[in-house]
Amino acid sequence: MKEVVFATNNRHKFEEISAMLKGAPVRLIPFWDYPDAPELKEEGVTYAENAVHKALTAARFTGQWALGDDTGLEVDALNGRPGLYSARFAGEGVTFADNRRKLLRLMESVPTVKRTATFRTVLALVSPSGETHVVEGVLSGRIADKEQGTGGFGYDALFYLPKLGKTYAEISTEEKNRISHRARAAQKMRELLPALIDA
Ligand code: IMP
Repeated sequence: MKEVVFATNNRHKFEEISAMLKGAPVRLIPFWDYPDAPELKEEGVTYAENAVHKALTAARFTGQWALGDDTGLEVDALNGRPGLYSARFAGEGVTFADNRRKLLRLMESVPTVKRTATFRTVLALVSPSGETHVVEGVLSGRIADKEQGTGGFGYDALFYLPKLGKTYAEISTEEKNRISHRARAAQKMRELLPALIDA
């Protein structure tokens, strides 16, 4: 069992990825377990750059294998926004609710057929010597007209899955962990892990 530090301060992401990697030959350690851990910056121009940067920061600081996650919600009617800037959509230091409110406001006059959107997660695994592996997972859906459901986090209450007739916030944690954009990326990472970690 190899210890892998998950370079995130987001407890929801930590819980999701931990569940998704259950049974894989790794034990995930939260970055917040390390006192004086450095800030995880998001200054890149791609998700991959951000995910790699976060993982590299953690790998360098801890001397361990590290995993980074960068995620964005790309809304077609907003030309792909908020995308890379999903966390600070409504400004610096905002809440998830502030971001959802801003998204709903911008989408007020957009008809259902034009409310299509994609959630994208890039995961980066970095070895203690800095070797990097990147995978991506996407899932398409629609921006709901109003918040629906109380589960999940972030934009979950607005991300509607037409096939299920529900948002991410209305399905169980287990179901989100099985079908989500992050689950798709985690599945790819899972397939890479045995060869990488044992090498
Ligand atoms: P980041 O990857 O931490 O930069 O996340 C970007 C933004 O998307 C943050 O506001 C997150 O709360 C949100 N986010 C990330 N993953 C998810 C998800 O699985 N569901 C809903 N919102 C998410």
